[in-house]
Amino acid sequence: MFTRRQFLATTAATAATFGHAPRAFAAQRPKYDLIIRGGRVIDPSVRLDAIRDVAISGGRIAAVEANIAGDAAETIEARGKLVVPGLLDVHTHVARSADGPGLVLQDGVTGWIDAGSQGADHIADAIAIARSSPQQGRVLLNIGRAGVLTDGDTMDLARADVNAARDAIAKNRDFIVGVKARLSRGVASDDYEVLRRAQEAASAFGLPVMIHMGQTSSPLPRLVDLLKRGDVVTHLFAPPPNSIVDDDGHILPAVLAARRRGVWFDIGNGQTGHMRWDTIAAIMKTGFWPDTFSTDWNTTSRTTGVIDLPNCMSKLLGYGMTLSEAIACATVNASRIFPVFNDRGTLNVGAPADVALLELREGNFEFLDNYNNKITGRQRLFPSGTVLAGKRIPRA
Ligand SMILES: [Zn+2]
Repeated sequence: MFTRRQFLATTAATAATFGHAPRAFAAQRPKYDLIIRGGRVIDPSVRLDAIRDVAISGGRIAAVEANIAGDAAETIEARGKLVVPGLLDVHTHVARSADGPGLVLQDGVTGWIDAGSQGADHIADAIAIARSSPQQGRVLLNIGRAGVLTDGDTMDLARADVNAARDAIAKNRDFIVGVKARLSRGVASDDYEVLRRAQEAASAFGLPVMIHMGQTSSPLPRLVDLLKRGDVVTHLFAPPPNSIVDDDGHILPAVLAARRRGVWFDIGNGQTGHMRWDTIAAIMKTGFWPDTFSTDWNTTSRTTGVIDLPNCMSKLLGYGMTLSEAIACATVNASRIFPVFNDRGTLNVGAPADVALLELREGNFEFLDNYNNKITGRQRLFPSGTVLAGKRIPRA
């Protein structure tokens, strides 16, 4: 942990050096703005897992090497920590509340997607939060024009209004990066038609559609067949009925075909109906692993099984996923889905300096699925610090 005392000591030392130096010397700026020293750097984008220093200048990664020489305006001591690219969470509801972006930034999340909190009627509210977010935040437009409704976004099919959706996208091309369709029974009255309309709205702009699967009325293959390259299936671990795995433990052929044509499969941890350990075990056994982790975060997540993205990332370590694979799911893999993240998810030299510091603790940790079933894991990741655009974010 980089304590407040260490921070003060570092800045005091820097001040002392410059405070008493002659003018000519004082004019020399340190070589780097920030060096993160001695952490275990795991960057799956370049297959790196080694003890390294990370130097940052001008908001970009300047060097990733062992024992970087040269001074820095600020130093973070990261020995014993993991140093990974800033985390990207592709399914959240951060844009539901003004304090959302700041809260997930504390978790190491330096880029987020709000997955359909709002539809055409109130999309301005979500965009206002994305616009003022310190980290990159973008939104998926709910095809239901009133957004997420407790009595079902598109139970009234008229709410799946293609023209209203297209208007909203046309006016907000910089912040709307896709369309969301929630397809569960009780959310969509006619899931197939709702998805067809979502595609109609999105395809006019070449945008992806994210579907929320699980507990659908239509058989999953019928819905998955409507998905194109670049679309996203969230809640891939949803238990039967209409899981991606059949009773014999085989992934449905339509789901395999979807992955082959470039459809992404995302976790979307959430709270209700999206993941159950026995289904997770059956799916992980087939080798059909998620492309991305996401939280389905909202402001109550601290007190649900979600907690934070690092906690969600820890859940599959007990199912055979390596640490590096888990980090890839929350960094480089996520960066490929949405163009806004294309230069993120990496610590490559020249990339924007978004960095997450994590602690990997060993012990007995309880993890919850969405059915109040508990498993015990031996490792858990904890957020421990965030650097955004080269600036250290103070711990709350
Ligand atoms: Zn969601």
